[in-house]
Amino acid sequence: MSDQLLNVQLLISGKWQDAADGRTFPVQDPATGEVIGKAAYASKSELALVAEGAQKGFAAWRALSAWDRFVIMRRAAELLRERAESIGRILSREQGKPLAQAVIEIQAAANVIEYFGEEGRRLNDTLVPAREADIEQRVLHRPVGVVAAFTPWNFPVNQIARKLGAALGAGCSVIVKAPEDTPASPAELLRTFLDAGIPAGVVSLVYGNPAEISEYLIAHPVVRKISFTGSTPVGKHLAALAGAQMKPVTMELGGHAPVIICADADLDAAAERLCAAKFRNAGQVCISPTRFMVDRTVVKAFTEKLKARMSALKTGRGLDAGVTLGPLVNERRLNAIKELVEDARQHGATIWQPDVSLPSSGYFHPPVLVINPEETARILHEEPFGPVIILTEFTTLAEAVAEANRLPYGLAAYAYTRDERTQRLLGEKIEAGMISINYSGLGLPEVPFGGIKDSGYGTEGGPEALRAHTYLKLVTSKQA
Ligand code: NAD
Repeated sequence: MSDQLLNVQLLISGKWQDAADGRTFPVQDPATGEVIGKAAYASKSELALVAEGAQKGFAAWRALSAWDRFVIMRRAAELLRERAESIGRILSREQGKPLAQAVIEIQAAANVIEYFGEEGRRLNDTLVPAREADIEQRVLHRPVGVVAAFTPWNFPVNQIARKLGAALGAGCSVIVKAPEDTPASPAELLRTFLDAGIPAGVVSLVYGNPAEISEYLIAHPVVRKISFTGSTPVGKHLAALAGAQMKPVTMELGGHAPVIICADADLDAAAERLCAAKFRNAGQVCISPTRFMVDRTVVKAFTEKLKARMSALKTGRGLDAGVTLGPLVNERRLNAIKELVEDARQHGATIWQPDVSLPSSGYFHPPVLVINPEETARILHEEPFGPVIILTEFTTLAEAVAEANRLPYGLAAYAYTRDERTQRLLGEKIEAGMISINYSGLGLPEVPFGGIKDSGYGTEGGPEALRAHTYLKLVTSKQA
């Protein structure tokens, strides 16, 4: 199956279909640059149909009990687990990540969907004690309606699973605008919901021109909530469009995660865990550890450990055995990383990379250490979103915290220290939505996942993510 040409269709009102005008766009294998299939390109007429279908889907979905919705979501999660290997192969082929990582992504997506299905059963209405005996005050949590979800290519399945899970668990229907770089694995995710028996129109899938689709759907009267994961500039643009329509949004945007390595850190554990987190998905992860700040007394020892780990990475096609570092998703991203590294070199950085031979085709970039760039280097300000570690040193903890908080981003942060007081202090002082100390423990379904400042607002994990797809209604009545 994995070597067949991909042919991805739109999902409208529960039916897979080509675009009415037959328009498609090519799908590439980033490990070779070869075209491996095509996907249908939605025009405005299809967007109108998808909105109409999603409105009907919402009516059908909200009419079900929370238990019945849970049963369908749990079945979809089971199907995802059963198909993890086959969908993983498609994902790896169109996105580039190593197969083992793709399979883990799909299993994680199943866990997310199951969690939100369960959480939907706990969306209890409440009774607020009244000031008079014959008055009742009921607070109802009701689904907002049709959600438009815009998702990126770095975790083509899991990014959708988070948005779908929270919306479906709350009783909403969802139109997914999935990433054009990686359209086939999202389609397989949505297929599991159809096979699990979800009513027509509850989940829909479109591809095409992202700007055209987002403008159309955000302004469409049936769409009541917007959820976006992607870059900060696009997120700000979409939030402004949604603001003009008075529609709520969840925004999960870019990051530039600081990492503080204190003198008392377990340097071996830090190098091992941080390298695993850094080079996962070739660094194309919003919470990827990036700005490593190391206490100057241990910087030499830690750098050697990082270099050893980076030298052990095996670069290649994600489907090949033993590969731990795949290509970047497309040529644009490859050029973006090359430019940032070159700019850092011109701004005084020492560039180190292991002696690896890269495949001759495809969008591969070696793992890179950018050591001590000058303050004006772009990479100290712009999110690299690739297999790059920036390494600087600090003398006092206050200096490291100030540097961690310098950027307008505030998504993830990491620290390594054995001292409990320092752990608590860093947990308080670092401006980020998520801080992981002495391990990489972010992204589970039941805990918050989101940022502050330019990294967005809202959460994609925990009960709050589900509640963000509901509105509150007070019904107060007096005995007549
Ligand atoms: P980009 O800003 O061009 O696109 C990011 C995503 O947004 C893509 O999926 C794209 O299809 C979508 N998009 C772009 N314009 C849109 C619009 N007007 N309406 C709706 N969707 C739109 O960035 P890119 O070059 O694909 O990726 C690079 C940057 O994107 C990274 O530096 C990173 O900041 C960000 N990114 C973040 C995440 C994340 O997990 N937070 C994921 C992928 C990309």
